Amino acid sequence: MSKYLVTVGLETHVHLKVKSKLWCGCSTAFGAEANANTCPGCLGFPGTLPVVNREAVRLAVTGGMMLGCEISRYSTFDRKSYFYPDIPKNYQITQSLRPFCVGGGVEIRNEELGIRNEALGVRNHSVKRIRIHHIHLEEDAAKINHYARFSGVDFNRGCMPMIEIVTEPDMSSREEVMAYLHTLRQILIYAGVSDCDMEKGQMRSDVNVSIRPEGQEKLGTRVEIKNMNTFKGIDAALEYEIARQIHALTHGGRLVQETRRWDPDAGETQSMRTKENAHDYRYFPDPDLVPVVLSEEQIETWRAALPELPSARRERMVREYGIPEYDAGVLADEKANADFFEAAARLCGQGKAVSNWFMTEIMRLLSETGKAISECAFTPEALAELVTLVGGRVINGTTAKELVAEIFEKGGMPGALVEARGLGQVSDTATLEAFVDKVIAENPKSVESYKAGKTAAAGFIVGQVMKLSQGKADPQIVGKLVSEKLANL
Ligand code: ADP
Ligand code: MG
Ligand code: ZN
Repeated sequence: MSKYLVTVGLETHVHLKVKSKLWCGCSTAFGAEANANTCPGCLGFPGTLPVVNREAVRLAVTGGMMLGCEISRYSTFDRKSYFYPDIPKNYQITQSLRPFCVGGGVEIRNEELGIRNEALGVRNHSVKRIRIHHIHLEEDAAKINHYARFSGVDFNRGCMPMIEIVTEPDMSSREEVMAYLHTLRQILIYAGVSDCDMEKGQMRSDVNVSIRPEGQEKLGTRVEIKNMNTFKGIDAALEYEIARQIHALTHGGRLVQETRRWDPDAGETQSMRTKENAHDYRYFPDPDLVPVVLSEEQIETWRAALPELPSARRERMVREYGIPEYDAGVLADEKANADFFEAAARLCGQGKAVSNWFMTEIMRLLSETGKAISECAFTPEALAELVTLVGGRVINGTTAKELVAEIFEKGGMPGALVEARGLGQVSDTATLEAFVDKVIAENPKSVESYKAGKTAAAGFIVGQVMKLSQGKADPQIVGKLVSEKLANL
């Protein structure tokens, strides 16, 4: 049996992080009552005129710059004609001839294609560049909701500003597709271009996929799976679709260029229509919108305000805070986590310790509660103070862990809590010695087994001393005292 190569190209729609719609002043807020955020403009009434949202243009261009695109000095809007209830004008305003951004690319890391590791910033990676064909600005269509006996159109989503990022057919596995989407999303969030909240439909992809026999240059017939809004769904749809195409070709079947939809319940893709051609849409320049001309000066002002890319941030965090690459990868994966870490590390000057606490205790609590760092009561100030208290041996690790859990939930500052409750570590040798003597006297069996060569018995004694001190003893001093005493018995 001959082997098949997979080719994937993505068209990803991303809602821009702007307050108002693309041509009118209606709100882009999510979750409003159906059709509450509408006006004659975004309802497509004849006689209304569009005026382009400046902030949307800035974000489209910012996204393009973050992805290394060439920015057009002269851009135009076109009408894409089609007839469907989600588009009351019977055309969508988009950019076909002269989009804002051309070229560019997203670098993904292949870890022998265990690409999810890219998030973890693992070493010895190879990098693959997924080229971007262009990025254009366009309006979203309305949302059609289907009910038992009728369907309803919600125009709140109509005319929401989006960019569409179109790649070249450069991905050759599901893993690469996942890595591309993950990296793209991360960059756009870093850039403040979009929140890319998948649950709110802010990031949706059309997935183009084809296969061809190994050794064949020419790409195979492509199928477009429309409007996928979860990464998991995309992965599952690709798995199914690749298998379906291979099965067709190996069983004497033929593939047609078509648009399919993913049915998550059935776990299969289903044909929607054979692929329309571009000329069916009758693209032509929108006469209601003037071309957007960007000056060199304007573009440079925006460029100067670009935020750091996640990859640059990882490298800088390693340099600036002396943390391992691994830590930097985990922390930089979510911008909000990296911001939190940096704020805390700057305050206390102990990068590695802050990173340890964040990556173990705080990340554990985040994943247990399903919260984002912005949603819990912890502050960078509190973490910095905690690290300082542990570093200065004012409190021990056990106490610190308990404080982290408490502050995560209820807020507060560790210093004040330690003071109010007398949680300070006991490091006074005389007091600790008395504890050790007491425990040794009360546990003759452990002492016996220690003498018989079972060194683990010393650990038990240390544990008992910690307990006796209600967890406040300095474990290092206790350990030292216990070894000394046992050795001299
Ligand atoms: P259209 O203009 O019909 O939408 P494009 O040529 O612009 O078609 O391609 C749309 C998307 O499909 C792009 O992301 C592109 O990379 C991808 N694509 C094109 N040809 C193939 C193919 N043979 N296999 C997989 N993806 C493809
Ligand atoms: Mg297309
Ligand atoms: Zn409106």
